[in-house]
Amino acid sequence: LHAPQDPLLAGLNPEQLTAVTWPAKSALVLAGAGSGKTRVLTTRIAWLLQTGQVAPSGLLAVTFTNKAAREMQTRLASLVPVNVRTMWIGTFHGLCNRFLRTHWRDAGLPQTFQILDSADQQSAIKRLLKALEVSDEKFPPKAVQSFINGQKEAGVRADALSAHDPYTKKLIELYAAYDAQCRREGVADFAELLLRSYEVLAANRALAEHYRARFRHILVDEFQDTNRLQYAWLKLLAGTNNALFAVGDDDQSIYAFRGAEVGNMRALMHDYSVAAPIRLEQNYRSAGNILNAANAVIEQNDGRLGKNLWTDAGEGEELRLYEAYSDGEEAEFIVDEVRALKREGLSLADIAILYRSNAQSRILEHVLVQAGLPYRIYGGLRFFERQEIKHALAYLRLMVNPDDDNALLRVVNVPARGIGARTVEGLLAASREQGVTLWQAACGTGPGNKKLGAFVLLIDKLRERADGLTLAEAISLAIDESGLRAMYEEDKKDGEERLANLDELINAAAGFFPDDPGNALVEFLTAAALEAGEHQAEAGQEALQLMTVHAAKGLEFDAVFVSGLEEGLFPHENSLADNKGLQEERRLMYVAMTRARQRLYLSCAQQRMLHGRSSYPIRSRFVDEVPAELVKVLSARAKPAPQNQRAPWLDAAPSRGDREAASRRSADASGWRIGQSVEHAKFGLGVVINAEGAGDDIRLQINFAEHGVKWLDLRYAKLTPA
Ligand code: ATP
Ligand code: MG
Repeated sequence: LHAPQDPLLAGLNPEQLTAVTWPAKSALVLAGAGSGKTRVLTTRIAWLLQTGQVAPSGLLAVTFTNKAAREMQTRLASLVPVNVRTMWIGTFHGLCNRFLRTHWRDAGLPQTFQILDSADQQSAIKRLLKALEVSDEKFPPKAVQSFINGQKEAGVRADALSAHDPYTKKLIELYAAYDAQCRREGVADFAELLLRSYEVLAANRALAEHYRARFRHILVDEFQDTNRLQYAWLKLLAGTNNALFAVGDDDQSIYAFRGAEVGNMRALMHDYSVAAPIRLEQNYRSAGNILNAANAVIEQNDGRLGKNLWTDAGEGEELRLYEAYSDGEEAEFIVDEVRALKREGLSLADIAILYRSNAQSRILEHVLVQAGLPYRIYGGLRFFERQEIKHALAYLRLMVNPDDDNALLRVVNVPARGIGARTVEGLLAASREQGVTLWQAACGTGPGNKKLGAFVLLIDKLRERADGLTLAEAISLAIDESGLRAMYEEDKKDGEERLANLDELINAAAGFFPDDPGNALVEFLTAAALEAGEHQAEAGQEALQLMTVHAAKGLEFDAVFVSGLEEGLFPHENSLADNKGLQEERRLMYVAMTRARQRLYLSCAQQRMLHGRSSYPIRSRFVDEVPAELVKVLSARAKPAPQNQRAPWLDAAPSRGDREAASRRSADASGWRIGQSVEHAKFGLGVVINAEGAGDDIRLQINFAEHGVKWLDLRYAKLTPA
């Protein structure tokens, strides 16, 4: 009926065609990076619509990032004439938010509920600990936060938990108190969006039936990274009659640390009677050498579902490896190469610099700014997380919902208006005693506290005056009337940059098109909380793309730099101790490498500033897992750093061929090698996993079989080769 001549289906390979035109049943597409999973998913949506099998309102598609959702919508709009904006295509958080905005009554939320991002959540927890007089040393806010989120992501409320040990008992208590606080303030954190949506559907049969009758087709990208709750939510929506179509790659599962379950793939096959996954084996993204290199790295993992990826694109160029003397010099190297790529005709937007940790972006940014190269950062140092932006947003949040305690605390005295710590303490105490929000407590102080009264008046005035203004005008009004603008105008140090960011916020508002213009401010605040930094990369000029490897998932670029390939950084030091952690890091490396179409750079530095001090890391094991014949080693360009700043075992030329010789020489110099088995009088047997320092001052990081990972100072530690 729909022969491959159909322009929509033209160019698909037979397996892709099978997947795209799969009947209205569930299916799992299990395939490696760049094999067209996302393309299949998008094309299937277009095909379902075009053949009239489903109306645009009858399907729901989940993607991993807002960027991916937008790309899918753009692609879809070019394939079929539909209004993609009204379709249910988005991230889990985005879709759940949409659901809760519609069913806020069922969810027990205020219609204008605000979303707490991770930083907001942490300050809410800090506030709670203080109110309950719980020591934040015994219960660090971060630990409490991760306990709460972990439970929510597993779908478990506090009242369903119990424990014998007093510590966990207290955590459960805090979880319950935190949820009560959120309810009082009418706010929801990220995990709450999902859990609340799930609970509303689970508790409300008629509603669930309504959605089940509506969404005949549910399609999920990056299925390997769904957690238990997300899968349970999908199951509620899909019921037993609808088609759940999922695509994923077990080798790209990189969110196990946040509860993602590769096991969901097996569960889906079982729950939806999927006999066998559809496999796609041809890679259309990367040149042969890149693909082979990535395959060689991921082959080191065990327990894989197994895949065979090939390409007919030809070998392409060799990978390029650069070992810099220092992190700064690594950044300079990258910038020089970017310039060269640009001269070769590559667009900056098609070049990405990837790193394992957000903190690495700072030095790259520094060099990029000096070089005058425009860049954008996805995730990480997020526009919407900057102080001045958060201040401005807090005023907007109060305009929408004055009971938002987080927002009130943030700006009640910013800019300074004489509402000191003591007044705030009093307000907190009053709100605790009366069981009301801070705003209600503030209103209750009446003429007793003039300054608080003035603040209440300011917010009321902003709300009244914003009525009838455009979104951008309303935001501009809030920035001016609150005194934020004046405050930053006086700030000689970084006021200029902060004002520029505030103006950027007004720009963002001007370019924001709400679904419901009457509700523009709420929608804008929601988008700000959900999208964080993703927005900026879209707007404006052509720019180099900077992001963490996690944020790069699903994306592709002509040229990719994977930077900071050092033991302790990538693989991350927290994951060196056990094999599970290491395998997840390796999948992350696989994701990083498979983002590249034509050219892939691997780089590392022999000296790096980390946590405020110099370290002398060793090249990442992942670099050495790439077959040597696929790599061209670029020779050092800059002057070497002064000898005394380098570890002796790094004195060898940084060429790959010399690698073995270097490690032999290093063994002569220091007596120790990474990977070497050692014995310690107290800790027993272990393996050297990292080293730093020079001369007499050498420290080794050792993974002891029985005592875990430890740093040992060789001046004191008694260590013998085992
Ligand atoms: P990842 O696992 O990284 O998310 P993926 O499997 O989702 O990758 P896609 O992003 O869908 O892969 O596809 C990779 C690239 O290959 C895209 O540029 C896509 O347009 C292209 N591509 C996919 N299938 C074909 C095809 N049949 N013919 C030509 N190009 C294709
Ligand atoms: Mg994809």
